[in-house]
Amino acid sequence: MNSPQILDGKSVAAAVLDECRAETAELLAKGIQPGLAVVLVGSDPASQVYVGSKTRTCAELGFHSLKIELPAETTQEELLQVVRDLNADPAIHGILVQSPPPKHIDEEAVIREIDPRKDVDGFHPENVAKLVLEDPSGFVPCTPAGCMKLLEVSGINTHGAEAVVIGRSMIVGKPMALLLVSKISNATVTIAHSRSKDLPAICRRADILVAAVGRPEMVRADWVKPGAVVIDVGINRVPDASKKSGFRLTGDVAYQEVAPLCSAITPVPGGVGPMTIAMLMKNTLQAARQLG
Ligand code: NAD
Repeated sequence: MNSPQILDGKSVAAAVLDECRAETAELLAKGIQPGLAVVLVGSDPASQVYVGSKTRTCAELGFHSLKIELPAETTQEELLQVVRDLNADPAIHGILVQSPPPKHIDEEAVIREIDPRKDVDGFHPENVAKLVLEDPSGFVPCTPAGCMKLLEVSGINTHGAEAVVIGRSMIVGKPMALLLVSKISNATVTIAHSRSKDLPAICRRADILVAAVGRPEMVRADWVKPGAVVIDVGINRVPDASKKSGFRLTGDVAYQEVAPLCSAITPVPGGVGPMTIAMLMKNTLQAARQLG
């Protein structure tokens, strides 16, 4: 049985946060305190957990952190006004509106309202364009940026590799594919999605397989080429009566059967998840540096 390299997001994220701590101290010495505002509309339980960890991490690093919790009935216009106020607030360098908002909110319009210079999620069209153009002044979405950092520090060579990304969302799949195909990474990339034909055959081509779907344990052993690197972005809550919470977290990859085939794999939890928050802190520092 092969034992794969486990890509430990917790320890890599801790190292990224150490770098962030040092950079925060430098900015503080120049009189700049990095500031991140996180806006949560409604009470989605998973979103509350994410927002809690983001604001906690800000506090640990010495950022100015603002958590704005709005009721689920908040109107589109009220939310846009909150964003405009944050755009105008000089103490705030990064603005994030936690996804998904309630159904009556037009998320796209909210993203467009965020000042692109404060869009630390990297979802504003201006930042999407900068990602396509490989312009480093833009913000790269945190989850794919975290996946790339994990690959980089783990010494995984992407150059010339055949990469398959399952999922085409603007949050994970598309930006991940763009980062892999960039002139820095030089992978050959296929994006697969819900309408792709014979997904297992497409995945079997991959030297690097990224799963960002949201379907527990969808990727099975016979989808994976022996020796592949597997990055599991999925975070799925699966009912589990033996847990106090009533659920357990699982990825999009059937870890137990896939891991022995891989050269490297991310666990869930403890793989990509911690990297996302670390990269958000990095993006906020970039915003603070660029805005001054
Ligand atoms: P999404 O729902 O926006 O996109 C899912 C994508 O999967 C779509 O592009 C769709 O075409 C594709 N898809 C759906 N069913 C499919 C199928 N049967 N076969 C092939 N493709 C299929 O989701 P998202 O926001 O991109 O998130 C994906 C997963 O990643 C979720 O589990 C989410 O919780 C997780 N996630 C994790 C982090 C993290 O920090 N680790 C961050 C963001 C999202």
